[in-house]
Amino acid sequence: MAEKRDYYDVLGVSKNADASEIKKAYRKLALQYHPDKNPGNKEAEEKFKEAAEAYDVLSNEEKRRRYDQFGHAGMGGGAGGFGGAGMSMDDIFSQFGDIFGSFTGFSGFGGGRQARHVNRGTNLRVKVKLTLEEIAKGVEKKIKVKKYVSDSHCNGTGAKDGKSFSTCSTCHGSGQVTRIQNTILGQMQTTSVCPTCGGEGKIINEKCVHCNGEGVLLSEEVLTLNIPAGVSNGMQLSMSGKGNAARRGGINGDLIVVIEEIEHEELVRDDSDLLYNAFISFPDAVLGTTIEIPTLEGKVKMKVEAGTQSGRIFRLRGKGLPEIEGYGRGDLLVKVNVWIPVNLSKEDKKLMEQLQENPMFTPVKKGEKTGFFKKMKDLFDK
Ligand SMILES: [Zn+2]
Ligand SMILES: [Zn+2]
Repeated sequence: MAEKRDYYDVLGVSKNADASEIKKAYRKLALQYHPDKNPGNKEAEEKFKEAAEAYDVLSNEEKRRRYDQFGHAGMGGGAGGFGGAGMSMDDIFSQFGDIFGSFTGFSGFGGGRQARHVNRGTNLRVKVKLTLEEIAKGVEKKIKVKKYVSDSHCNGTGAKDGKSFSTCSTCHGSGQVTRIQNTILGQMQTTSVCPTCGGEGKIINEKCVHCNGEGVLLSEEVLTLNIPAGVSNGMQLSMSGKGNAARRGGINGDLIVVIEEIEHEELVRDDSDLLYNAFISFPDAVLGTTIEIPTLEGKVKMKVEAGTQSGRIFRLRGKGLPEIEGYGRGDLLVKVNVWIPVNLSKEDKKLMEQLQENPMFTPVKKGEKTGFFKKMKDLFDK
């Protein structure tokens, strides 16, 4: 997906533009790129959507504050935000339809599109806890959720047997009412949501008794989630249409799956790499040895050659985690530490004192810059 443009740039306003400037700028763009004016023009449609998205954020105090603070990242990938998909044309017309209404009269277009109100179900958020082993391979999880589902008795309409409704006589089913006003700019046509039917275009004569006219019922459902390999803590996966059903046959909300990573007992995650602290005895470091390393696919043996210095890092290629988007796989980095004995007996202490005199213990190196030290220090010193 292309990089998102700055919302202020999109609308062509300054960072401290007030609400009316923002509204004005958006109107201008919305008029320019309105689909009725640019039929079949994909580029205009994209511009139209981009402007609507920018306006949605900047016209809302809370969203604007979040955006100013965190940029696009603050808009989130899920509930309350736009997700990755942006706004659909229906979203735009159902949310900002009124902004077009007030100038359709003199702009010479509009009216061709029905801005009937469409109910939208709320998003459902669930947390899923995963082990690193599950993250490495990807996993199928079944979860039980309570959510609103369409009532089968009335087919989600809220009307008895799904039939007991009639077309709204105020708006004749269009869901909106139009008013002509005379202003200094000439005749203006204002369109607003029909007050009789709330924009649905229909009136229920007799309510469905099962759902009390709502068209939805609260129910428990088992959902199967296919979690891809390589996800990480806090990541949000959005499943379109799997959230709560909307009142009276609208559009379902989304299911937002929030990933929670269960800490591994021995391995530390660093993006797609894994880190492991190994300890070997002093004689083993001097003479060389083979040690066992835990990986997500079981234990593997690793050779530590004679004369390995404490703190050396070995890289086990491909033993890390897969990248979520791509073909790569991280590595398992093993830091080999030489265990320094503690709790010495009198005899041990004597032995050490004898060894202390031995010139073989004099370090050859006094100090060294090591590449990994900086990056791994924080994690490894825990
Ligand atoms: Zn109506
Ligand atoms: Zn019902």
